[in-house]
Amino acid sequence: MKSRTLPAALAPLLWLLAAATRADVAPDTAEPGSVEEIARATTEARFLSPWVAYLPESATVPSPRAYLHRIPGAPGELVESAQAYGYCRALAAASPRVKLFTIGRSEEGRDIVLLAIADEAGIRDLERLKQATATLADPRRADPGTAARLIDGARPIYYFNAALHSDETGSTESVLELAYRLAVSEQPMIRRIRSNLVVLINPVSNPDGRDKQVEWFYRYLKGRTDRALLPRQAPPYWSRYAFVDINRDAHQQTHETTKAVHRMFHEWHPTVVHDLHEAVALLMTWNGTGPYNPNIDPLTFSEFLELSFHEVQAMNGLGMPGVSTWNFGEGFAHLFLDSVAMNHNSIGRGYETWGNGSAETLTWTLGPEDTSREWWRLVPPPATEFAWSARDNVNYNETAALAALDWSALHAHELLSNFYQKGYHSWRKGLDEPPFGFLIPADQGDPARVAALVARLIAQHIEVGRASAPFAVREGTFPAGTYVVRLDQPYRNYAVDLLLPQHYPKDGGEPYDDVSWSLPAHYHLDVVPSADPAVRAAAIEPLASAPVVRGRVNGAGTVYLLRDTGQEGLLEARYRLAREPIEIAERAFSAGGREYPAGSWILKSRAGLATPLAAVAADLGLDFDAVGEVPAVPRHAAPAARLGVYVPWADTDSIGWIRYALDQRHVPYAYVRDEDVRAGHLRERYDVLIYGHVDLELAEQIQGIPKAWGPMPFKKTAATPAFGTPAESDDITGGLGGAGLANLGEFVERGGLLVTLGNGTMLPLEAGLVRGVRREAGGVPRSSQGGGADAAAAAQQAATRTPGAHLRVSFARPDHPLAYGYPARTHVFRQNFALYSTPRRWLRMAYCTTCLDGPYDPSGVVLEWGDRDGAPLVVSGQAWGEANLVGRWAILDAPVGMGHVVAFNFNPLHRDLNRGDQRLVWNAVLNWQAIVSAHAGPH
Ligand SMILES: [Zn+2]
Repeated sequence: MKSRTLPAALAPLLWLLAAATRADVAPDTAEPGSVEEIARATTEARFLSPWVAYLPESATVPSPRAYLHRIPGAPGELVESAQAYGYCRALAAASPRVKLFTIGRSEEGRDIVLLAIADEAGIRDLERLKQATATLADPRRADPGTAARLIDGARPIYYFNAALHSDETGSTESVLELAYRLAVSEQPMIRRIRSNLVVLINPVSNPDGRDKQVEWFYRYLKGRTDRALLPRQAPPYWSRYAFVDINRDAHQQTHETTKAVHRMFHEWHPTVVHDLHEAVALLMTWNGTGPYNPNIDPLTFSEFLELSFHEVQAMNGLGMPGVSTWNFGEGFAHLFLDSVAMNHNSIGRGYETWGNGSAETLTWTLGPEDTSREWWRLVPPPATEFAWSARDNVNYNETAALAALDWSALHAHELLSNFYQKGYHSWRKGLDEPPFGFLIPADQGDPARVAALVARLIAQHIEVGRASAPFAVREGTFPAGTYVVRLDQPYRNYAVDLLLPQHYPKDGGEPYDDVSWSLPAHYHLDVVPSADPAVRAAAIEPLASAPVVRGRVNGAGTVYLLRDTGQEGLLEARYRLAREPIEIAERAFSAGGREYPAGSWILKSRAGLATPLAAVAADLGLDFDAVGEVPAVPRHAAPAARLGVYVPWADTDSIGWIRYALDQRHVPYAYVRDEDVRAGHLRERYDVLIYGHVDLELAEQIQGIPKAWGPMPFKKTAATPAFGTPAESDDITGGLGGAGLANLGEFVERGGLLVTLGNGTMLPLEAGLVRGVRREAGGVPRSSQGGGADAAAAAQQAATRTPGAHLRVSFARPDHPLAYGYPARTHVFRQNFALYSTPRRWLRMAYCTTCLDGPYDPSGVVLEWGDRDGAPLVVSGQAWGEANLVGRWAILDAPVGMGHVVAFNFNPLHRDLNRGDQRLVWNAVLNWQAIVSAHAGPH
């Protein structure tokens, strides 16, 4: 147990507080004992502000201290979601200034809860206040005069989001106390906040992760205060699919947390969405270094700079060191949870405070990069050793939040006026300047993917219509059924951001995350911007919900054909028809007067097939043609693969997106853990193993989580009921180890197909499963924080960097099954990855000073970087050091024994965004038998 006695160094602090309490607290009365308890939990006087040095006493409303029997941020304690919600319910039940809402349900079935806090009048008036911000959000519903009158009676709504990243544990503790303080304090600043704003608090935005993390803390971290000896500080999962990437979901909205926050946003139209994180000492308030996204209204950037500088100023004034702004992220990509606000004319922002990844007090010595005095950090964090506690973190979070609320309350009119103006500007741009609309032809190769793109726009409240008659604009004539995004709408700016390519400046510094999110590039679809205002005259019917594409079975005959035009639904169809023998054409052919490209399906009729086939066609938007006979074309059998997805315990995050993609498509697969690989016999169980991208170097991929920490069970027990999902383990340490690596090699040797994506490709190429390929200088494996130290160092060396960009590629083997459904020249999405040589037949032998390296063998190169016809490499985003990338392989198909390794030098399953790249992986799964049966190239 940790000692609770007061360190001698804190005696002056306690004395000061006790002396100052009476004056500083008035007109509040401090809850008896709260001052002393907060002082004891704070490690140094300068890490506390008078604003949060006490809990206001209330005769009617329970404080979090009364409810939890401890102060928020008490050493060695963390509140799990049910307790946090219990307190929120108690608070709402006791205070007429607090109301509780349930805004969602997590993947594992936990509620996601929202508190609204305002004065009594504000709470009574919530519906009217919501209506006011909803009207201000749409300038078509309020002209400037009406808006001005509306603003006089409206309030900015300020939303705090806690506990998105589960090992950043301080935010939940902070906002529980903040909610109480806002509800009961009679300090003038708080009264002003209550009467001028509505404050929304989501105390546990990702409750699945919170509960796993809290259990992890009590199981593995409690009582351990020596940082050098701490084991891993987070459980392997923070939700069913995600870890850190749960904060990379703004555009796609796949996680229940994101969906709940987006629903909240479009119901309340908060002026500010503020997300609480922990990564920078002692508090960094975000606003980014630039380049700023050109599609976001400039008012937003000046507002968030103003708010940040106010926080820095207020906390400098309170004598709290280490508060800074500016030097974090860039402000170009808005794909984070708070981005729902940035992308919809509000302000998205956040803090990085200093979290211990534990509720225990730890000792830190920061390096010069964290303690130098800079214009954006005029009072840096301590340069000498200091102790930091969970309460210190709460003090910083809550003091800064109060400063932000104070500023917002004092600028309420300005914030609402800006909010209205941003919507107004966006709408006017769509009326006054091109593009005036986007036209999305419905009949592109995969109509279901077109519908999926439209669905993503609609989910963002971007208005989309469907042409009810043909129409002509400067760009051409478009048929009825074309999807039309008119840009005279309040979210015009976001539509433009999503539907045009990104141009990240080449001299723009190191980006934090992706530099391209253009949906046409991600989906491999044509979306035509129209410079013709006549687009507004097209007859369109607004779409109230996502379009549904249904396919059908045409004609009659004993053989069914399915034209492969790049449909991503083929994978799901293969498993829906798992027992049917399906053959895949290896060349184009014609039948019944129609042309069928290579990759098209041939399926013989049998009794009882018509009904399931019609259902598959309808559900997946696939059209089958019935013909009289099997066409004379080279073809191969395509049995449904027994599929495994290998998920190392050391990094589950990116592979979570693969599991998500397969689950969405109802594709059966086995979740393969480190211990399953170590146990071997893989070929008996699987035909195809997918090993996705991981943020690990080769040695870490093999070693996994250190055995020294083991055994580390991740299983449901009475004490750890949240553990064990989505997979369980008796011991998550030990990684693949040598045995696992050997078993993977044996799997391939014995006829399996191993598909590796992103950094997963290091394993077969660099650990020796595949011969003859070398890692080359000049590449950068992606680091988990896009702009990490590796990338920054690489930037100085002019290394090849493509940090989330869409790049042109050419098929070196357009006849390869991986190419089915694709044109010979296309593009894919690439983050930063290592560079590899073209395979050689053999490599230089030791001391062989006179012999040359073996001859190159490009026969396994399926896809290569760059356009062989000379089109520019970058479709959207940016690339650096690209000369060293063009011409290298992007996909390699390497025969090994009786099996094959298909290695990707990019991640075709990136966060459910690059949907047009996915077919490359689906092709490997669909054609696994043909791929492993193919002979090696010419010898
Ligand atoms: Zn975070």
